[in-house]
Amino acid sequence: MYCRNCGTQLEGGAQYCGHCGTGRNIMVDLTPQPPLNRLALWGFAAAIFTPFYGLFACIHARKLCIQRGERGAGLAKAGIILSACMMVVYPVVIILGIGYYIFS
Ligand SMILES: [Zn+2]
Repeated sequence: MYCRNCGTQLEGGAQYCGHCGTGRNIMVDLTPQPPLNRLALWGFAAAIFTPFYGLFACIHARKLCIQRGERGAGLAKAGIILSACMMVVYPVVIILGIGYYIFS
């Protein structure tokens, strides 16, 4: 945490800035966020169009996010679930499509 008024770095439990006396409630957290894992993002997109590839990309991305402390582990998990759903949906749609073509 850093003081919004003077920019002094503050101790975890400090209620007031030791330098200028500004209260904690108007302080801003400037701690940089870890980067978003790109593979998790692409894996999620791939899960929709190419679920087989998306599943493996998301499993690998989730592993990388946890190892490196990057953001995107949740997105990768959503991608795993989505790609698993799509792997069921696509064959059903294809079978229904073929069935409709043959029997109509
Ligand atoms: Zn201050």
